[in-house]
Amino acid sequence: ALEIRLASRPQGWPTELNFEVAEVAVPEPGDGEILVRNLLMSVDPYMRGRMNDAKSYVPPFQVGEPLDGGAIGEVIASNSPEFTVGDHVLHRLGWREYAVVGADHAVAVDPSAAPLGAYLGVLGMPGLTAYAGLLRVGEFKEGDVVFVSGAAGAVGAIVGQVAKLRGASKVIGSAGSAEKVRHLVEDLGFDAAFNYKDAGPVVKHLAELAPEGIDLYFDNVGGEHLEAAITLLRVFGRVVLCGAISQYNDTGARTGPDNLVQAVGKRLTLRGMLANDHADLREQFVKEVGGWIADGRLKYDETVVEGGVAKAPSAFLGMLRGENTGKMLVKLA
Ligand code: NDP
Repeated sequence: ALEIRLASRPQGWPTELNFEVAEVAVPEPGDGEILVRNLLMSVDPYMRGRMNDAKSYVPPFQVGEPLDGGAIGEVIASNSPEFTVGDHVLHRLGWREYAVVGADHAVAVDPSAAPLGAYLGVLGMPGLTAYAGLLRVGEFKEGDVVFVSGAAGAVGAIVGQVAKLRGASKVIGSAGSAEKVRHLVEDLGFDAAFNYKDAGPVVKHLAELAPEGIDLYFDNVGGEHLEAAITLLRVFGRVVLCGAISQYNDTGARTGPDNLVQAVGKRLTLRGMLANDHADLREQFVKEVGGWIADGRLKYDETVVEGGVAKAPSAFLGMLRGENTGKMLVKLA
């Protein structure tokens, strides 16, 4: 069986050389454990931070050890009364073909209720991040003008659509290609969107689309985007600090925002968030978002990389470069 290990820590942008594909024996489950054959795994931006040897809210990956992360698999042996062979489970030991998982670290998922990928995306961690971030952390209010960056990604696309469905007066997105911009407006119902790679500063693009200003900025990107949003935010505006992917591969000095003083006069709120703090919203989230998916009012995309676990490093690198629309997943079997 194959697993992907961290071969070395990247300086700046990671490459395939930072990963190693290793052949290992299929592990044996002990007491209270299950053996899972992984079917799908997630590659996520936060994994870039775990490649560094830095203290953070999740421990770093270790050189020479397999990586881990969200995955869905099928139980093929069980030493736990909680699971039987053939069950599908969500767990945290991706980046390998077979995983031995403690029964208390696996959650049963129902493949007839939703496609398996949804449990890693729209109905999973990224979806909950979007829902809790917008509604609770961002204190979204009906009539808000909402701006979200990384808008064509797993989190951002859900933020924008939930805002519309909950009564935003206007939703603006930014993304890194003309096709993503088209998709946001024509397929996902955003009122406006711009390609941040087009010539000109982000603040100029945003001001053109939101001359009246914005009430809420959902930040997936940081840097220049955050600075532009602060400039356009109205009095009592709010910022959800969800991620700063524009800076994850930076090695030198980081840019922006150098206009934070505006937060004083405008009485802005900038609040960081972690999805894990909002597990209590999960039931409500799955009910509301699941309902919108079922009646066709909320759409979600997946970019599924085929070719097995050996393709996981290139899928991860591709996600960092923006090759995904919606959730980036790797198909293992
Ligand atoms: P995405 O599906 O959005 O994938 C990442 C996207 O980031 C790429 O598709 C790319 O799209 C965009 N991107 C890459 N580089 C840049 C850049 N320099 N400037 C602007 N955009 C860039 O990932 P997720 O939806 O999973 O995550 C989105 C953000 O949310 C990340 O910052 C992540 O760390 C954060 N997050 C935070 C959580 C929390 O609990 N706080 C939980 C989950 C995610 P493009 O083509 O548009 O450039």
